[in-house]
Amino acid sequence: MTETDSRPQDFRSLGLSEPLLRALATKAYSHPTPIQARSIPHLLQGRDLLGIAQTGTGKTAAFALPLLQYLSEHRYRPAPRQPRALVLAPTRELATQIADSCKAYGQFLSLRTTVVFGGVGQTPQVQALRHGIDILIATPGRLLDLIQQRHCDLSAVEVLVLDEADRMLDMGFLPDVRRILSTLPRDRQSLLFSATMPNDITDLARNLLHDPLRVEVTPQATTAERVAQSLWFVTKADKRFLLTDLLADPSFERTLVFTRTKHGADRVVRHLQQAQIAAHAIHGNKSQGARERALEDFRSGRAPVLVATDIAARGIDVPEITHVVNFDLPNVPESYVHRIGRTARAGREGIAISFCDEEEREYLRDIEKLIRQRIRVAGDRTRGARPQTAAKATAVAERPRPTTPAQPHPQRHAAQRPQPQRHAPSHTPARGPVAERRPARSPQPARPHRSGPARPGDVDGHARRAPHPAPGGSHRRGRRRG
Ligand code: AMP
Repeated sequence: MTETDSRPQDFRSLGLSEPLLRALATKAYSHPTPIQARSIPHLLQGRDLLGIAQTGTGKTAAFALPLLQYLSEHRYRPAPRQPRALVLAPTRELATQIADSCKAYGQFLSLRTTVVFGGVGQTPQVQALRHGIDILIATPGRLLDLIQQRHCDLSAVEVLVLDEADRMLDMGFLPDVRRILSTLPRDRQSLLFSATMPNDITDLARNLLHDPLRVEVTPQATTAERVAQSLWFVTKADKRFLLTDLLADPSFERTLVFTRTKHGADRVVRHLQQAQIAAHAIHGNKSQGARERALEDFRSGRAPVLVATDIAARGIDVPEITHVVNFDLPNVPESYVHRIGRTARAGREGIAISFCDEEEREYLRDIEKLIRQRIRVAGDRTRGARPQTAAKATAVAERPRPTTPAQPHPQRHAAQRPQPQRHAPSHTPARGPVAERRPARSPQPARPHRSGPARPGDVDGHARRAPHPAPGGSHRRGRRRG
């Protein structure tokens, strides 16, 4: 079923309680995003939900806010090892970000949230579970391990959220997910979010959800329209020089660079480091510690460039990403939309610049077909056209394709150009403006929700609009069966 509500103008009109409204005020969210406006009132009533939405739409708050409100209004002390709500996410990064969001939105409620994922020791996770928690956020593999070792028992779960279900499918997690779901009680509220609906996910949703509200937001073309996109034709060998040229522009404050392979990501990072641009790679071969450090340095601005593969970049939640650079074009056109969506989150404008070499023309055609638009060409370095400054490249992204070649950057020289581009001086010298600028940049303040501890006793007293009927008088049986 599809809902037809008109969109309320503010969070209060959605029926959210005071402690949540206060928390939202600290995040400076003025208006709900479309998925929040369309889902929250129904979720507060205990309805199941099928959310067809990708990262960047505000889907985390769409499920976290009603979840927090339900748990705080139907409060009891969770039993050891028996969480009251379960959020399943495909990657550790996404799981961590969901936990951060729950803590931020729930900062004026005293609910316990714990995140569990693989690749780290399980002892602290086991201890947290034993202590009793309200919301468990987990990746499937580690959660299944903990269930099998009897450190976790899902029989008291009242609310289930399955986030990025299509990614779970892509990453081969569906069998684990099904085993986990088989241990849940039938009497619960269930939410499933997926950016796309392949057959396996449609089947899963059919089994999991009971008369769900269906909310679909941000069709792919919409995301693409919010991002100023531009394209460089470039040889494979010249890509890294073009990248350092672009990064010389100070407006590239947080740049997410995508490569197709892990080795490619490492190569780009080595090149950037040689050019004295602080950068990290994030991909599947990196340890958990290295990934966390890379993300932290990126968020704080210590390393303003993050080079990632598609899978690793899923779930990275850095709202301040100013630019996405497709160093390699993706061979799956949908990935292009996911990638550029990283720089236009929750309605912000973003800039995406793509490099296209001779072998990637076919990928480009597929992408343009999918987004139903031609990407504007900022320059062609394969035919001897002179490179533009990054600022000009960005400006070109805003207007129709240029008819005259761009001018060279006055400060650049040809010392390390590959042979075919010798006439087109564009390499940023190691001790050039980038090297001087990066260390001087002051780090961004930590995001407010990272520091917000729960305040004991500050429990919501807001009257509820007859939500979640509790058959048999038990709060714990108040959710719809799944
Ligand atoms: P999500 O799709 O849940 O990953 O959220 C994407 C980004 O949007 C996150 O950085 C959120 O902090 C931010 N966000 C979520 N809801 C809002 C809102 N109503 N207004 C502004 N930003 C928001």
